[in-house]
Amino acid sequence: MPVLDTAALLHWPVERIAGGIAAHSQLAELERLSPERAMLVESIEMEWMSIGTGDAEDAARRTGDLPRLSEVDLEVLALAMATGQCLFTDDYSLQNVCRSLNHPFEAVSNRPSKKQWAWELRCIGCRATKQADSKDAQECRICGSPMEVKRARR
Ligand SMILES: [Zn+2]
Repeated sequence: MPVLDTAALLHWPVERIAGGIAAHSQLAELERLSPERAMLVESIEMEWMSIGTGDAEDAARRTGDLPRLSEVDLEVLALAMATGQCLFTDDYSLQNVCRSLNHPFEAVSNRPSKKQWAWELRCIGCRATKQADSKDAQECRICGSPMEVKRARR
């Protein structure tokens, strides 16, 4: 019973989706992306769940991926963490958090990314950096310019 992200629900054949675990919020997302596909997927035998995202947010904050993940992404991650099941996703940030937790994941279509990386906030003015620890827009403490999320230089 793998946990399936929305890309899998969109692109996989019905036989492969059957028996999978997904979040109710993904069905709403699917309805926005493709109403026909949403109707089809709704008719498939699978496990629709809802879950709090606190643990998933904590894990994503530790790797700096939190600003890159939507509420739906976080719920998919929370489902994988709570059930211990393999997560199928092409989202590099979700893969990155799974890797940091030693949680099994597989790609929906592409190959999984090989390296772990971190995100940071970088000031567009003075280039100061800080840890990407929140989804909120932030201003630089040094010069007051906006900060944007960048891949951390290692
Ligand atoms: Zn600055």
